[in-house]
Amino acid sequence: MKEHLKVSKKDAQVVIQDLRKRSLVDDQSQVQRDMDYVYIPLKESFKSDSYEIIVMESIPSKTKHFPKLAGGAFDLIGDIAITKIREPERAISLANSLMETHPNIRSVYLDRGITGEFRLRDLGLLSGEAKTETMYRENGVQFKLDVSRVYFSPRLATERMLVSKEIREGEKIIDMFAGIGAFSLNIARVQKADITAIDSNPEAIRYMKESMALNRLLGIIHPVCGDASQKISELDDADRIIMNLPHESRKYLELAIGKLKDNGIIHYYEILDMEGIEERMEEFRDFGLTVLKKREVHGYSSTLTMYSLTAINNKSKL
Ligand code: SAM
Repeated sequence: MKEHLKVSKKDAQVVIQDLRKRSLVDDQSQVQRDMDYVYIPLKESFKSDSYEIIVMESIPSKTKHFPKLAGGAFDLIGDIAITKIREPERAISLANSLMETHPNIRSVYLDRGITGEFRLRDLGLLSGEAKTETMYRENGVQFKLDVSRVYFSPRLATERMLVSKEIREGEKIIDMFAGIGAFSLNIARVQKADITAIDSNPEAIRYMKESMALNRLLGIIHPVCGDASQKISELDDADRIIMNLPHESRKYLELAIGKLKDNGIIHYYEILDMEGIEERMEEFRDFGLTVLKKREVHGYSSTLTMYSLTAINNKSKL
């Protein structure tokens, strides 16, 4: 039996944060909930004028059952955690554990799958506040986004940093499937480049513009809303093209190559198995592209991997 602070649901987050700051929460026990109240286990007894203290059975914290899961079991985008764990009990347990142990997480969602042209997540709230807009920082760039209205994956942060380091001053770049402009803003933060960032989702373009205003950028970004296959024909040839549409990039490859300057660079992303990536590299060679780099960005399933290919356009030499 242990003392718990009984707090209304609406006050719980703030009170937990405050108690944590004062080291009064017993992290070895779980925060418990019923329909109306949250019960916070106390490390030591204290007097509260605002809330009732009740003695009840404590439940050992599950946190220690998740040490291995914690890294890969969820994505953290600002103060929103998103998990793909399908078994309801494990998902809820992880969500409660995250809320208890990470005071900076305000909401935990279940990702039930990504669908449609805009690659939007179907999200179900597991714990915390029902809010989907957040601020997220990556490689020194500040983004504002709504995780239910735009596609965004923090798993590409390293890839975006690696690409941004390759850019030379004055490059003309086309970011064909830009989303909220994650590649474009990473690049514009560090280099004086001229970037056209295309996305067909108007919400992605709206958040891209908001994020542009939040950052001090060296480069110039031109946000363009529409279908890349049409919009790209209105643009001048580019020194570099980024193709981050991993399920469908192949469909747009010839179009992109047609817009790439001689010696221009393409950053191509696709989800493939080991055989598939070999075939794709063969195809790149047939198109007059020399593959400079192949990287495994992250695993996708037991057999599939998200690959990035960096290739240079030598088609004039064919
Ligand atoms: N590059 C972004 C990043 O790093 O966060 C995210 C890219 S996301 C995988 C793919 C994006 O392509 C989505 O935002 C979607 O709206 C957009 N999209 C899909 N088909 C498109 C098309 N034909 N033309 C332009 N954008 C498209």
